Amino acid sequence: MSASVLLIYTGGTIGMWADPRTGALRPMDLEHLEEQVPELERVGVKLGSVAFEKPIDSSDMRPADWVRVAGIIAAHYEQYDGFVVLHGSDTMAYTASALSFLLEGLAKPVILTGSQLPIGTIRTDAKENLITAIEIAAATDEQGRSRVPEVAIYFEYRLYRGNRTVKVHAERFEAFRSPNWPPLAEAGVHIRYDPAAILPHRQGPLRVHDRLDDRVAVIRLFPGIRASWVDHALNVPDLRAAVLTTFGSGNGPTDPAFLDALRAARGRGIELLNVTQCVGGRVEQGKYVTSRAFQEMGVVPGADLTVEAAVTKAMVLLGRDHASAALARGMATPLAGELTMS
Ligand code: ASP
Repeated sequence: MSASVLLIYTGGTIGMWADPRTGALRPMDLEHLEEQVPELERVGVKLGSVAFEKPIDSSDMRPADWVRVAGIIAAHYEQYDGFVVLHGSDTMAYTASALSFLLEGLAKPVILTGSQLPIGTIRTDAKENLITAIEIAAATDEQGRSRVPEVAIYFEYRLYRGNRTVKVHAERFEAFRSPNWPPLAEAGVHIRYDPAAILPHRQGPLRVHDRLDDRVAVIRLFPGIRASWVDHALNVPDLRAAVLTTFGSGNGPTDPAFLDALRAARGRGIELLNVTQCVGGRVEQGKYVTSRAFQEMGVVPGADLTVEAAVTKAMVLLGRDHASAALARGMATPLAGELTMS
């Protein structure tokens, strides 16, 4: 019996066409997208599909849309062997990260893919991405279990863990990387899976979370960042947590006024998370004098989390449990392979 895969079309360049009047790229509907890939008939997988009524550029994705995709997967979970989410590449790493935290106990593949060129164009990268993503979503091991029981991104011959991935290029077909984790699979003549990199099969039922708390900010540090500006940003009413993107192994300025602004925020119960601006490597808070104050005031070290994973994980954890202490504990505990513990 052939495997079954549900395509979930949210939008993005993969399904865009050029408006003849203005030349601007606009999303087309799923039917037109499928017409562009007659090969889908021949992949040997039973395909179902669901589409956003109005496909969107991924720059317009919001937390409610992540919950919506998670809900579609939950509603069809028993019926399909795997899921392929067609999505714009710009914020794909955020959606993949969010889904990995929303879909607790996931035991089937959820593969996100998209493209840099629309599917109707001659040099498009969309067809290969789509067809291989479907094959991966349908692939099983010798015992008949999904080969990739986790949320992943397939792009340009590589499969990456979703919550470890960052978009690194605006034009190249190789648009993604996961600097702190090896690819889960590479596609050439054969699709070669790396079982050591793939999450083990999880036991127990799927539990889908449907609440996120979006009162989370990101503050990117830079030399000369003004303490008054940081203080202002952290005084936004309702703010629950801020991700500080820091230098190197988690360092920041030692300017007393800057540190006072952070301390004051901590005093108001705001959680601060330390994530490095470097694409590879990890935060080691306290290693340098320039991160010792963070350690002393209880900033949560983000180890090797990406910004995308840190923001979405904070939103999901705050949505699950409103207490700050739970957030600090939860950020340091790997939920879906997003974090390497020291
Ligand atoms: N702006 C597009 C999007 O993210 C880019 C892409 O799909 O690659 O929806």
